[in-house]
Amino acid sequence: MKGKLFVIGFGPGSFEHITKRARDTIAESDVVIGYNTYVDLIRGLMNGQEVVRTGMTEEVSRAQEAVRQAEMGKKVAVISSGDAGVYGMAGLIYEVLVQKGWSAATGVEVEVVPGISAINSTASLLGAPIMHDACTISLSDHLTPWAVIEKRIEAAASADFVIALYNPRSGRRTRQIVEAQRIMLQHRSADTPVGIVKSAYRDREQVVITTLAQMLEHDIGMLTTVVIGNSTTFLYDGLMITPRGYQRKYTLDADVQPLKPHMRLRKDAEPWALEDEEADVDLDAYEEDDLDAYMEESWHAETEADERSAADSDGDLEWEEEDDDALGDSHLAVKPGNKQSVAVGSYGLALEALQLVKRKKGEAVDEGVPARNLFVQESILEFAVSPGVVNKKITAAQMLLIAEAAGERGEIEYSTQHQLILRVPTSNPETLTRGLREAGLLLMPLGDVAQLKACDFCNGEKDESIPYAEQLAKGLNGRKMPKELKIGFNGCGMACYGAVNDDIGIIYRRGKFDLFLGAKPVGRNAHSGQPVAEGIKPERLIETIERIVAAYSEGGYPNERFYKYFKRVGKVAGYSYREVPMFVIEDAACGD
Ligand code: SAH
Repeated sequence: MKGKLFVIGFGPGSFEHITKRARDTIAESDVVIGYNTYVDLIRGLMNGQEVVRTGMTEEVSRAQEAVRQAEMGKKVAVISSGDAGVYGMAGLIYEVLVQKGWSAATGVEVEVVPGISAINSTASLLGAPIMHDACTISLSDHLTPWAVIEKRIEAAASADFVIALYNPRSGRRTRQIVEAQRIMLQHRSADTPVGIVKSAYRDREQVVITTLAQMLEHDIGMLTTVVIGNSTTFLYDGLMITPRGYQRKYTLDADVQPLKPHMRLRKDAEPWALEDEEADVDLDAYEEDDLDAYMEESWHAETEADERSAADSDGDLEWEEEDDDALGDSHLAVKPGNKQSVAVGSYGLALEALQLVKRKKGEAVDEGVPARNLFVQESILEFAVSPGVVNKKITAAQMLLIAEAAGERGEIEYSTQHQLILRVPTSNPETLTRGLREAGLLLMPLGDVAQLKACDFCNGEKDESIPYAEQLAKGLNGRKMPKELKIGFNGCGMACYGAVNDDIGIIYRRGKFDLFLGAKPVGRNAHSGQPVAEGIKPERLIETIERIVAAYSEGGYPNERFYKYFKRVGKVAGYSYREVPMFVIEDAACGD
């Protein structure tokens, strides 16, 4: 009769965190082999098994003994804490077997029973620090040359991995953790969150959250795992959390603009992605429902797919427009840039590095050298520029400034909204925008914000209503909305800038204002807004528009366009929606 080897990971050490298979295999075994402390930890699961106890350093003899007993026909449980395949007994057992010429077909049967490794158990106590790409590094140079370990720390730190340090420190090995911290500080900010967990899910469990700079001030021992956050890891209410991805966009006022589900996987939305087939997927080719399915399949869109509003699934032509939005949906925003990183001379880099080192040591720094963080990801600042709310003429000097701001690597695009859109890789958005503003240019965020577009009031000749346009622009431009909200403001009944085709259309006529709501400016079933009021008194205009915008801002579903919202709620700020007959396009008759 052939024996069997179970190589079992029993998890962090508490009964509830041992898998059922681990319990069953321990119960099924004739012999249990393991480090003394571990045998004690699982004592409650045993029913009279023979125990081969060994000390910590006798792993090889333990593995040999296990194989020997299995070859004698016994069922042998070799136990490791955490997972047996992570710095545990699994590899060693196979090494012993391989040396003996073992093969699965002819030799003893082997089953590796997975367990919860320390990276997982400690992470659960810290919050959610792993989340993104992470690695484990053992600081034990007992079987691995320190030079190799050093290289791995260096590589992981520079590649922004979350790092779980196993075997961080023992009575004899005390320098390793100090060295590890030193290397990591070369790549990560001193205030990077660090979690230190001792004896997770065991008696005398200890959880400490600190920073990379201060981690050595805490108790770290053989039963500790140290988790180093990446550049995005943050602390919240005593928890250490690593977001699932890197934020792409920030408005100038640091308002984070997360990617919408339909914008994911697009090259223009995630410019840092390696160009591959997936990134090239032509989303336009999908029907809306299929697209949902596609998104569901993609791990990128796991949860975000749910966020898509009910409003988007009513089966009309919305998707076409969503696509256009995605291309133009670029807020007054900064997003991490792509491969075209700044060309900095090596001398410049060296100087900056020296400043960093000096600063860390508390030494005087040369103020002439920029105090840039060497490891900041470059970002793209996106925003719209126009000469003003009313003015539509750009001076040559302003044009030059815009060109200068775009520089060699930026781009300038002319938008449907009579604006120039600038996309400029920069790590210093403030400086870039200040100059443009000082030259009298109007800078506007794009995307899901309110935007007022006024006409030129016949070159300023029909100027009575200009103050209202300016006041509205000042109060509303850039305000966060469920979906982009276009407000058109035209200074006479001609409405030649097309206010009737905007979400909210305001037209000044004979000293008063007419109001149009809910246009659908694009798509096959485009229509103008409904005239909902005529002759609004000027003193009531601002308050009326404010109420409409506020109602939409509070009541609109995420991603729901204004016209859909208006239709859904039926009444906004006292103005009722009226059903308009659908225009049916007949097939052309042949022979006509
Ligand atoms: N096979 C184990 C790792 C063994 S190496 C696993 O998968 O978890 C031993 C190291 O694991 C310890 O130095 C410590 O860093 C970590 N470790 C194991 N159990 C732990 C626990 N309960 N709490 C914290 N760290 C633990």
